Amino acid sequence: MSEPNNIPVDFIREIIAEDLRSGRHARIQTRFPPEPNGYLHIGHAKSICLNFGIAKEFGGICNVRMDDTNPVKEEIEYVESIMADVRWLIGGWAEQNLGVKPASREGRGPSPFYASDYFERLYQYAVALIEKGKAYVCDMTAEETDEYRRAGRSSLFRERSIPENLDLFARMRAGEFADGARTLRAKIDMTAPNVWLRDPLLYRIRHAEHHQTGDRWCIYPMYDWAHTLSDYIEAITHSLCTLEFEVHRPLYEWILDALELPGPRPRQIEFARLNLDYTVMSKRKLIQLVNDGLVKGWDDPRMLTISGLKRRGVTASALRSFAAAIGVTKFPSLHEMTLLEHTVRQEFNPSAARRLAVLRPIKVALINYPADRVESLRAINNPEDADAGTREVPFGQILWIDEADFMEAPPPKYFRLRPGGEVRLKYAYIIRCDEVIKDEDGKVVELRCTVDLESKSGGATAQRKVKGTIHWVSAAHAQDAEVRLYDRLFNVAEPDADGNFKDHINRHSLEVVTAKCEPALSDARPEERYQFERLGYFALDPETTSARQVWNRTVTLKDTWAKAVKR
Ligand code: ATP
Ligand code: MG
Repeated sequence: MSEPNNIPVDFIREIIAEDLRSGRHARIQTRFPPEPNGYLHIGHAKSICLNFGIAKEFGGICNVRMDDTNPVKEEIEYVESIMADVRWLIGGWAEQNLGVKPASREGRGPSPFYASDYFERLYQYAVALIEKGKAYVCDMTAEETDEYRRAGRSSLFRERSIPENLDLFARMRAGEFADGARTLRAKIDMTAPNVWLRDPLLYRIRHAEHHQTGDRWCIYPMYDWAHTLSDYIEAITHSLCTLEFEVHRPLYEWILDALELPGPRPRQIEFARLNLDYTVMSKRKLIQLVNDGLVKGWDDPRMLTISGLKRRGVTASALRSFAAAIGVTKFPSLHEMTLLEHTVRQEFNPSAARRLAVLRPIKVALINYPADRVESLRAINNPEDADAGTREVPFGQILWIDEADFMEAPPPKYFRLRPGGEVRLKYAYIIRCDEVIKDEDGKVVELRCTVDLESKSGGATAQRKVKGTIHWVSAAHAQDAEVRLYDRLFNVAEPDADGNFKDHINRHSLEVVTAKCEPALSDARPEERYQFERLGYFALDPETTSARQVWNRTVTLKDTWAKAVKR
């Protein structure tokens, strides 16, 4: 599967190239800093591809760093899933640019950096800030603090002396005060137009167990403090984040300046986050889908999580191609799911082996074909790839065809099978439907057809043409498989536009059928992708056992047949 040939060009890469040219930086160090409060989604994939892509192109390193400053919402399960997803996405591409701690912990694979690794240093930096008269301990409640900040009013505790602040901060750390009783705040400017500069919080008290530091700490640094200084400690050169952090940038720079930290300093650059239609894109919302049982888990193939996409059959390479296709800009936009689907098709078309499978079978009996005869027909494995060769497909008197390929009273321009009508069976013969057999409920259970034995594909007498070609599987040779067909998880393009995304769940987003598959599919491998002819691209699900295959439809084919079959 091919990588995009061209090295991407965007405003961030231009800045970095210039920083190298001018000598401002001699090496490039980026980072990907997820908060371990959920599984990664396709938006994170954009950020991973950007940060690792840059590290790769400029010969640098991208650190994975857990932004673990909120002990209440974070869990070790999420740390592990994040590492697995990152390594899957960069596998075979930018593995060599992954920055992790040298010592792997308990043999569990590379260990990410953690903001919590720096809690002691962050504390010492806070002490230094207090000593410079640039931070103070504030006793106001959270509500009062918000109200005062909005109004641009100074805290009643703003003028506390340095020794008193040092003493109170040490006692905050020692656990003398209850949650919420006090905070540490930067002393900046209560009338700044940018509210983030109105004496923002740097530390809060939380008597809570932390997944990395246990009960060692009862004060936790706020995002801006932890993030800026973690970037500095790790010698990050370019700290790339999404646009909502643009308003934090003055604070980022204030922190570095106020501590008078020697250079080279990291530089924050913002880019537009990925938004996709027909989905929600925040761990906070995705976790509700999981916890409310609206999906089967974080890796449900309908979820736009990295693990969901992977399970659905999207490859890491296809996700990277998608990230390259959407590019990096400063302008917020909403991308279409159809672009992701298009990218996946483009990726699979050259390499996916073609196979025959019938999703919703109806029986076809060939009345003039001998019951004991089996022919072996030659089928092309991939018309896009001559090297993929051919395979043998068995043909017999009783076949399965797809329900969607027969209609009793079809509309105009319907070229598949109808009573009295003809159709070609791919790689085989032309058949004519002579009789329709139904059960008591009027459901079609069997089509009795005549086969034109002169019309065999590739044969000397195969000149006759009919308008429609359909696929089929020999009933005597078919194997059953469970096939999971997916539709969008939401009915509307912007499910959270009204703030009630859970009201817009598509109740028909999963259909499970028992398909009839041609024998060659019994050798299918989980790492391969297959095109079931006329139906889409499919991948084996991890629930597959030696007794029963389970398939996920990764994406439909773009043609109108696929739409008709999908209904
Ligand atoms: P969420 O709302 O899903 O929790 P987040 O931004 O809070 O997203 P983090 O775990 O803090 O999640 O994000 C880690 C990195 O991924 C950050 O640098 C963030 O900017 C980036 N990121 C998150 N969502 C997107 C997105 N939709 N597009 C691009 N980058 C994203
Ligand atoms: Mg977040």
